[in-house]
This record gives sequence, structure tokens and C-alpha cells, in this order.
Amino acid sequence: MNPRNFHPESLMMSYGYKPELSEGAIKCPIFQTSTFVFKSAQEGKEFFELAYGKREKNPDEQPGLIYSRLNNPDLQILEERLCLWDGAEKCAVFESGMSAISTVLLEFLRPGDFLLYSMPVYGGTDHFINKVLPQYGIKGIGFTPDDTKEDILAKAEGKPVKLIYVETPANPTNALFDLGLCREVADQLGNSDQQVYVVVDNTYMGPLWQHPLKLGADLVMYSATKYIGGHSDLIAGAVLGNAELMKRVLTLRTFLGNMAGPWTGWLLMRSLETLKVRMNQQAENASKVADFLAQHPKVEKVYYLGHLEEGSSQYQIFKKQLSSAGAMVSFDIKGGEKEAFQFLDHLKLFHLAVSLGSTESLAEHPATMTHSDVSEEDRDKLGISEKLVRLSIGVENHEDLIWDINQALEKVS
Ligand SMILES: *Cc1c(COP(=O)(O)O)cnc(C)c1O
Repeated sequence: MNPRNFHPESLMMSYGYKPELSEGAIKCPIFQTSTFVFKSAQEGKEFFELAYGKREKNPDEQPGLIYSRLNNPDLQILEERLCLWDGAEKCAVFESGMSAISTVLLEFLRPGDFLLYSMPVYGGTDHFINKVLPQYGIKGIGFTPDDTKEDILAKAEGKPVKLIYVETPANPTNALFDLGLCREVADQLGNSDQQVYVVVDNTYMGPLWQHPLKLGADLVMYSATKYIGGHSDLIAGAVLGNAELMKRVLTLRTFLGNMAGPWTGWLLMRSLETLKVRMNQQAENASKVADFLAQHPKVEKVYYLGHLEEGSSQYQIFKKQLSSAGAMVSFDIKGGEKEAFQFLDHLKLFHLAVSLGSTESLAEHPATMTHSDVSEEDRDKLGISEKLVRLSIGVENHEDLIWDINQALEKVS
């Protein structure tokens, strides 16, 4: 199957799929089915014994197909392929990024527990941590890229912290968090009886440019709606990690019933075939767009990972954790909301829409859109001002993108 230790991009078209089980079809069909027929009652019994953990798997035994809430070939093959990028033992695909995130937080936190979380986080995650979890007696403590290890430990002092939740690079400013530092904090707060887990939302880097499991994280999560799906035509999420932790995640998914359906699984498999070429083209375009913005007189400041000051602490984290500056570029326009809106309203090729990581370029205004739910005080602290515009760069011709940005900036008065 993998005689040369093939790279993930070489395996995305075929890995985990056996044509002989599907009439020789070169591509995995859509298994649009709720349930699977057993050959015999004995087989059904054996499948259930395995699925419900009543006995250990025999050496060559494959878990049998039972019912699409438990397993379905389109999800199973997709999950095996996603594992290849992150070097994970196991993966669970969800019907959205938020269901992946909320399932992980519900599985690893209990009433009375605290979690440390990086700020800012995705708006939906912020809402879940600060508005939903407190109703179950679980509280969040935020930390920022400026906090040192001692600062974070001081914030956790005397509180039963069970989990550290990190989103890096942070949306929408591209601020970076040091995952090695988070691992040290977790090890210091935990003990052999009660481990503190580090979970990372890696949506901003896709599975290509940062591998948190290799940098000390216990679980990595994605909104697969973004780079993994990559075509703005589906909503999905994924969680990956070692077999032991993933067994817990998969069990809760079975009983919350928030797995993705076969059609979404099939679309994601198609998307994975082009993941690397898409993401690399997006990053290449983004670097040209960022360079253009940086020299434009109507632009005050550009937030782009390829422009970090060499030797700065953010640059050191960048070098340690990331293999690309990514395809997300934010900038402060000179002026405020009025100027930002003039720019957004005059774009002709970029679409004015939230979301990111897709083939088409998107532009939005975080302060009044994706991050409007963040308190004004936190927005000030995190640099999410009225002049900030966020761009997600797609696969279009970069000269067309730059032309569009230039003509829209010219309309700003
Ligand atoms: C979009 C996004 C999410 C939520 O994912 P959905 O698929 O919309 O539920 C979570 N985290 C980040 C960083 C995101 O960009």
C-alpha cells in the first residue's frame, strides 16, 4: 500500500479504498445509506461486540459496517486520509467545526473544571466557552500572545485547569502562540493522575502548514469548512489525535450523533485530492498581495506572517511551528469604518463574505462581522479595530487580485 513511504499528497486519490469492494469503481462511491445488511446473525453479533468494546479486535479483523451514525465508508476512508497529514492515529469527522470543538470540550471538561484559552478565538468558540460552558459550571480563563509562561501559570493559580485550548495563528490578526510553552504549562499544571490536555484549533493553517501533534498538542481540530473543504460548498469539522483520546471523542460523537453524512464525506475526499496544490497556490498569491498592500499609501499596517520582523519573538515562533506564511492577510486601512466599508463595497473580484481558506478570495470587516460579539475592551486589546480588513486569498491570478485591491483602494476617499 505504501512501499516507499509516499507523501500524503500522493495517497489522497486512493488510500484506504478497495475498488474490488465497489465493482471496480476507481473512486469511492457515495454510500448514501443509513444501515448495512449483515450476512448472518452471527456476523451482526460480532460487529456489535467490536463496536461496543465488548471484546478486543482479532489481528486481521476489520470493524464491520453497522449503521451510518457509527461508521460509513465515506467517513471512514476520509478519516484515514486526514490522519496522514497530521501523523495522527485516529480521526473523527463532524458535521461542523463547531460540533468538533464543542464535542471535545464537553468530553474533557466536567462541572467545576477550568480551561485556559488563547485570545482571540473564533467567535463561535468564544461564545461556547464564555456563554454555554458556564451554564455547566465550567469556566474559561483567557491568555494573550503577550503573556509569559509565568503570567499564564499565575492566572491558573489555585484553579483546577483541565485543558488548554489554543488557536494559532489567531484570527483575524495572525498573532502566534508558542505550542511548546503551552505544553510546558499543561505539564506543570497536570500530574500523572490528572493530565492537562492541550488542544489546538489548526483551521488557519489547514493540515499542511502546521502539525500541532508534532509540537506537543494532544488533539488537533479543524473547521473542515475552510481549507480542507476549500470550495465554499460544505460545512464540516475534524478532530485528530492518539487512539486513546480519540476513542473518547468518537464515543461521544456516536451518542451526540453529530458525525458528518456520506455526501459531505465524499465531497471532502474530492477536496483532499487538491489540498496541497490549492493551499500552496493560495499562499503564493497571498505573499504577492501582502507585498502590494505593504507599499500602498492608503494602507497603515499589514498583518501577514511573511512580514514578521526577523528576530522578534513572533518570528521565532513562526520559524519553529509553521512551514508557510499562509493565505490570510489582514490590514489596517487609513481611516476607520467608513474607509474600510468603501473599500469592501468597491471590490469586483473578491467576494464580501466571511469564512476563509477557499478557492475564491474573500474580504470582510472583523469588528462589525466575525468579531462583533467580542467585547469592545477585548477588541481594543487584540487590535481588532474599525480600520481592520481581513482577506482570505484564493487561487485566482494574483495580478487580477492586486488589480482589484488597487481599484477598490482608489475609490476610498
Ligand atoms: C470557521 C471556524 C470555526 C467553526 O467552524 P464551522 O465549520 O463554521 O462550524 C472554528 N474555528 C475557526 C478558526 C474557524 O475559522
